[in-house]
Amino acid sequence: MFLIIMSDDHGFSRWFYGRSKDCPTHLNEDRHRSARRFARRVYLPRVIGLATGFFCVASVLVMQPLSGWWWLLLVANGFIWPHFAWQVADRSSDPVRAEIRNLMVDSFMGGVWIAAMGINALPSALIVAMMGMNNIGCGGVKLFVCGLAVLSGACVVTLGLMHIPLNLETMPSQVWICMPLLIIYPIYYGLVSYRTAIKLAEHKRRLMQLSTRDGMTGVYNRRHWEHLLHGEYENCQRYQRNATLLLIDIDHFKSINDTFGHDVGDEAILAITEHLQLTLRVTDVVGRFGGDEFGVIMSGTPQESAIQAMIRVCEHLDTFRLPCAPQVNLQVSVGVAEFDHQMTSYREWLKAADVALYKAKNAGRGRIEAAA
Ligand code: GH3
Ligand code: MG
Repeated sequence: MFLIIMSDDHGFSRWFYGRSKDCPTHLNEDRHRSARRFARRVYLPRVIGLATGFFCVASVLVMQPLSGWWWLLLVANGFIWPHFAWQVADRSSDPVRAEIRNLMVDSFMGGVWIAAMGINALPSALIVAMMGMNNIGCGGVKLFVCGLAVLSGACVVTLGLMHIPLNLETMPSQVWICMPLLIIYPIYYGLVSYRTAIKLAEHKRRLMQLSTRDGMTGVYNRRHWEHLLHGEYENCQRYQRNATLLLIDIDHFKSINDTFGHDVGDEAILAITEHLQLTLRVTDVVGRFGGDEFGVIMSGTPQESAIQAMIRVCEHLDTFRLPCAPQVNLQVSVGVAEFDHQMTSYREWLKAADVALYKAKNAGRGRIEAAA
């Protein structure tokens, strides 16, 4: 019986629910490493759990007329097996498979001890509950059922072979000896579940960040920004609301890159992002649409107000100089398109802004043009 750390996020469940043979080598190495980490995480809880479990089982065995071999086996299982199991898993070419075997050995020995105790109620129930929690935490229902079958089989065979009389009743002193395991295990399991939930929430937050944000500027990436634009379009259609869309493209950006290098180009992109974020409203949705192109959704804003806001951005840009290249005068062209109920899709709205941007570029750049 031991306190196990819940299922490893990488290797364990994947092994149990099917492994990919055609995995690239580096992924296999990652898996091997994460499986070893899992085996290492199981080690200490197994040491503690089996040592505590030793006293529960011993408290019953002292009352049974059993030979010294049983005691040797109990000592070996309680104090030697956890170290041996860890060594086997750690040195194995497939630590996950080795750990599954170890868990099955734990279940098997659990069944043997239940039988040896004559199915004494409390320690037996504890063993079944702990093994069940370990196995279900590591491999779900499938591992739980396997473990239960192994445990039951071992118990029935041991009972049959050794002719051990039933001894169902647990004495008060035995209840007290079982108390540490009974109390420590669920608390520890709760703590592990809590930590796992926190870790998962953090991973989810990081994944959300990765999938919705542009890595360089931190504003929305094109895919997510378009998704938000789609939502805005639907809202405008349904609730008769107004909104304006702007596409902004840096003028002659290629020549900034070519003349001053990509680092300065990157600085320019970051500076434009900052200007948009600082000058526009927090409710305006800024996204990086492509290399040097940005999109802004201004919800509930008529075209005139959107143009005024963009004029403020351009004025700030006029006086701004890049610290790394003060000679660069950052300038943008802007295409503006107000939502129109005649539009049949958000793409049409986007197209209108794009046409307006094209117009601004063709009319000499450094301008704001509205869709016709
Ligand atoms: P125009 O005035 O017509 O917009 O001309 P332009 O030179 O700005 O041309 P265009 O908008 O097509 O140029 C985009 C360039 O931006 C092309 C690409 O090399 C560069 N670029 C795209 N992404 C990045 C980036 O993340 N960093 C840097 N430094 N450059 C980028
Ligand atoms: Mg450009």
